[in-house]
Amino acid sequence: MGEGPYVDGAGFADLQLRPELRKALTSLGYEEPTPIQREAIPPLLAGHDLLGQAATGTGKTAAFALPVLQHLDGDRSLPDPYVLVLVPTRELAVQVSQAFHRYGRDLGVRVVPIYGGQPIGRQLQVLSRGVDVVVATPGRALDHIRRGTLRLGEVRTVVLDEADEMLDMGFAEDLEAILDETPAQRQTLLFSATMPARIDAIARRHLRDPVRIEMGRAATAAGEPPRVRQSAYVVARAHKPTALGRVLDVESPAAAIVFCRTREEVDQLTETMNGRGYRAEALHGGMNQEQRDRVMGRLRSGTADLVIATDVAARGLDVEQLTHVVNYHLPSAPDAYVHRIGRVGRAGREGVAVTLAEPREHRMLKTIEKVTGQRIAVEKVPTVADLRARRLELTRASLAESLLDSDDLEHYRVVVESLSDEHDLMDVALAAVKLAHESSGGEVADEEEIPEIAEPRGKRPREVARRGGPAAGGGPDGDVVRLFFGVGRRAGVRPQDLVGAIAGESHLRGRDIGAIEISDRFSLVEVPASAADDVVASLRRSTIKGKKATVRRERPTGAGARRRPHS
Ligand code: AMP
Repeated sequence: MGEGPYVDGAGFADLQLRPELRKALTSLGYEEPTPIQREAIPPLLAGHDLLGQAATGTGKTAAFALPVLQHLDGDRSLPDPYVLVLVPTRELAVQVSQAFHRYGRDLGVRVVPIYGGQPIGRQLQVLSRGVDVVVATPGRALDHIRRGTLRLGEVRTVVLDEADEMLDMGFAEDLEAILDETPAQRQTLLFSATMPARIDAIARRHLRDPVRIEMGRAATAAGEPPRVRQSAYVVARAHKPTALGRVLDVESPAAAIVFCRTREEVDQLTETMNGRGYRAEALHGGMNQEQRDRVMGRLRSGTADLVIATDVAARGLDVEQLTHVVNYHLPSAPDAYVHRIGRVGRAGREGVAVTLAEPREHRMLKTIEKVTGQRIAVEKVPTVADLRARRLELTRASLAESLLDSDDLEHYRVVVESLSDEHDLMDVALAAVKLAHESSGGEVADEEEIPEIAEPRGKRPREVARRGGPAAGGGPDGDVVRLFFGVGRRAGVRPQDLVGAIAGESHLRGRDIGAIEISDRFSLVEVPASAADDVVASLRRSTIKGKKATVRRERPTGAGARRRPHS
């Protein structure tokens, strides 16, 4: 903590980014580059290809968006894009476009997300007006290429983001076809959370002497991870403040530090937690040394029970009273995790580390486990009922304590005796407990239910409905094929919806339909091979669960083998 006042954007100074970008980063509250940004940005600025193993949460989007934006010509007037980012899903297409807008807002960059499911007409309009960066899902990108509405002749940089997911979704051929449309001398970046052989093959074919970055490798520099009790809760972003409150109530930390990624998030969460009755103090790089010392003083003296901080501001901080470290946002790399949790459990003291992860961040959690060699137990967020039980237990404990000192109770006897003339003694006791409970703040006001997220995405096996239809066993006329439906669990799709749609629109009956697999974003359904084209044609204009969905034959995914469900 002795490094003096923090200078805005200083962490990014070494990266030689243009002032417009530095300014955007400062206003977003980014205090320093994440490890992947530190490693990737310089070679990308120098024009190298890159093969990056990095999951969501590492800051990989900024790692490629910043160098791309750095090279943007202010007076670009060409209508055709010079950057193409391919992503597996619509959700990611929107997120990545937003990131480009945020970082590039002072550069007037023209970015469009293009994905299936959105009316093609609107996309045609935007494309014809001219764009700098297109962020697209492979299927829709190929549609536009074939219509001649997306021309890739000016492309200088191609980014394949979450490449493993794109392959898993059957986009291998589309990727090849799209890459073939781009100039050979382009810069190519490939990011993937995992590096199976198929990704390696694509990298060998399409990347030129790439710089390789593997997140997690450097983590050993942080040293031996401390021995602390580690747990994680998987919750959607919207429920994080409530989840944090519940976990804190159940854990009852003497003093806790809660980590956020940016200064903005620190300020917001501090306000939220104070609004919920916690004594929280913010600690970030925008504060001067005196302000920071004051905050730490309040934590030490017990005037505050939570300090909400960024990594930069908390660096070097040593508070003996600290019992809990909470990762409100996952750190951007395993070594940052190790640094964070190293704040507790020192010198034989007991420490607890709690992590709140969003469903899509489970891979990062796994990487951290692998790198630290320690298990992080994924637990259920305490429910309202758990919280009530815990609060009642606290009231019970304090009543039990006051019963030990019975002398002190004597002068209440007259109250109990007079009440017992008219009331049952048990009822009197119950009323007294109620009063004690309420006056100690034991009532659980927050009734918000947090939906349970059963298991992180990806780890969860796809739901496979084994059906008795002839198709499952090969069918009377022999072969079966699988059809791909671009809707899945996220759209609320169940096996019966798929059977209903197929049977309703085509000549097949329910029992002709074989095994059904439903994963988060898509579904696969076995049908007799002889009927496949007919089913695809008849479903072209229909909706499933109110959504228009792509329906096509499952694409071969290489090596001839049909993919097995993940397990
Ligand atoms: P990503 O891995 O690209 O999905 O980014 C994960 C999150 O980290 C996003 O919410 C970003 O806004 C945030 N982020 C990216 N870079 C930084 C940084 N240098 N400092 C703080 N937050 C960051």
